[in-house]
Amino acid sequence: MRIKFLANGPINNLGTKPDYVVYVNPAYFMMKYYHTLRGKKPWKEKWLLPEFIATRTAQEQVDSLVRDRVDLLLLACFVWNMDLQMEVAKLYREQVPQGRVVVGGPQLTAHKDPQFFEKHPYVDYAVYGDGEKALSDIIDYLSTGSRGRPSRSTRSPWVNTVENVNGKAHVWPFAMLKDDWYWSVSPYLVQKKFIRDSLEKIYEEGFTNKHVVFAVEFARGCMYNCTYCDWSQNLTNKVTRRKAEWKLELEFFRDLDVQIRETDANFGQWKQDIEIYDYARSLHNPKRNFKFIVSNTAKLKRNADHFLVGNGELGGQVMLSFEDTEEEPLKAMHRPSLSWEQHQEVIAKIRHRLGAIFNRLGVGELMLGMPKQSIKTFKENFKKLLTEGLRVYPNQWTLLPNSPGADLNYQKKYGVEFKEHYLFQGHNSKNPGVPDSIDDLYKTAQTNPHFIKQSMVWKTNDMEYVDIITVLIAGSLTKSSILKEQIIKIYDTAVNNHNDPDISAVVDWLFDVSAKNAKLKLAEHKEAIEKYGFVVPALIYRNMLYGGWTKIMNFNPQGFDKDLQAKYKI
Ligand code: SF4
Repeated sequence: MRIKFLANGPINNLGTKPDYVVYVNPAYFMMKYYHTLRGKKPWKEKWLLPEFIATRTAQEQVDSLVRDRVDLLLLACFVWNMDLQMEVAKLYREQVPQGRVVVGGPQLTAHKDPQFFEKHPYVDYAVYGDGEKALSDIIDYLSTGSRGRPSRSTRSPWVNTVENVNGKAHVWPFAMLKDDWYWSVSPYLVQKKFIRDSLEKIYEEGFTNKHVVFAVEFARGCMYNCTYCDWSQNLTNKVTRRKAEWKLELEFFRDLDVQIRETDANFGQWKQDIEIYDYARSLHNPKRNFKFIVSNTAKLKRNADHFLVGNGELGGQVMLSFEDTEEEPLKAMHRPSLSWEQHQEVIAKIRHRLGAIFNRLGVGELMLGMPKQSIKTFKENFKKLLTEGLRVYPNQWTLLPNSPGADLNYQKKYGVEFKEHYLFQGHNSKNPGVPDSIDDLYKTAQTNPHFIKQSMVWKTNDMEYVDIITVLIAGSLTKSSILKEQIIKIYDTAVNNHNDPDISAVVDWLFDVSAKNAKLKLAEHKEAIEKYGFVVPALIYRNMLYGGWTKIMNFNPQGFDKDLQAKYKI
């Protein structure tokens, strides 16, 4: 059997160096290794090299699948690629009727949606939860016709699979993967050549090792339930830790010379995380590319500084994910959080160790559009973060169907409404260019494969859409060096006078400017939003098309900094 995995991940344009980041999803390597270990006749399967990035249309991808004589197609489904993956599955089954399609990933709801296969009849199996055993059993079944014996714990031959039986969903039970042998052997070290070849395939598409971020799993699962999050598809709060030889794994990634990140939800929760991180740091050679940049620190530990200082020293972003710092919104989104004073202690340690570069690299991330958030709570958040020298990065709530926030009662309670957004996400060479009009932009977004469709928050009891754009613009404007200088001046004056710094006036003004621009931009899009029923948060200005609402500085003919200079008579 010839097996192919398509991740169809986005090319992330971070706006930093290097411009584009290709994340390598480790799931395929893990499932392949599991089948080698536990499958009935693993030597009979041919695992083709995976594809990680969505650079081709669905039809082009299917043409390749036909050329490669693929028998079993594996599709990883996330919020950014669900439609594309389903289109690939449909075209593949039309052209290869005897082929089989397995889908997996956090975006799937087959285990709780009896109509799933009526909507997606071209899918044969949907895997939910841990995918290793489920996929291995499917492969065995397809190649031998036998389902194997029921396990003692679940009394079922299969787990974590929804099977398409003549259009009806047969849901096999959920079970966490318990397999000490599997968890103790490194899927990376036993497949070095396959992984190297997989990376070479990315490089053949014009990327280099400097564009690659390899995601490495040290622990799987999260013990919390933030309402916007779909970690583990919200099937369990248990966490499983791999026990493999992490030192040798890190040395392998050092030899591959790629950057790595963790796939863990709470890195730093365990003492060993610090050891892993410190060892990775010791392997870093400034003349080479290997480094470990940590993204998800432990929510209730006070050790984020250990990793974020490292991120800063290695040239990465120093991103503190607060999501909010005000009590009511945190409670409404079920977000575990340190108190603001405890956060300040962590920030102080980072600032102390990073010195001046902290002002350039420090960012505070906030969720945007969550229940109980309002312009008023955002102003408080901005005041706190800006006073600490952090830029603000608001992250508009995207609806994930397996998150607690997808519960309609929850949405009703807080008056939450979502609307489809089409976001341009791709290499600049794929930018459709300047549309003739806003209407033309909306038409293009529907048909151009480089626009990703997501359901994003539109309004709540406490925020209208114009408020949401206002906060996005205000966050973007916190990059302004003049704004920062102004805040520093207020801060220094207050310290000299033994007062607490009060930047309320600056924040009020920032929000006024942002609200003015948000209203303007929304008015331009209003007709198209009503006509098409979705939003394309993109701006056309001076013969350029920009994605997102946040390039507003480029759209103010005089420039935001000029406004600031005038206001503060600089
Ligand atoms: S946002 Fe982070 S802490 Fe919250 S549930 Fe998701 S993974 Fe866990």
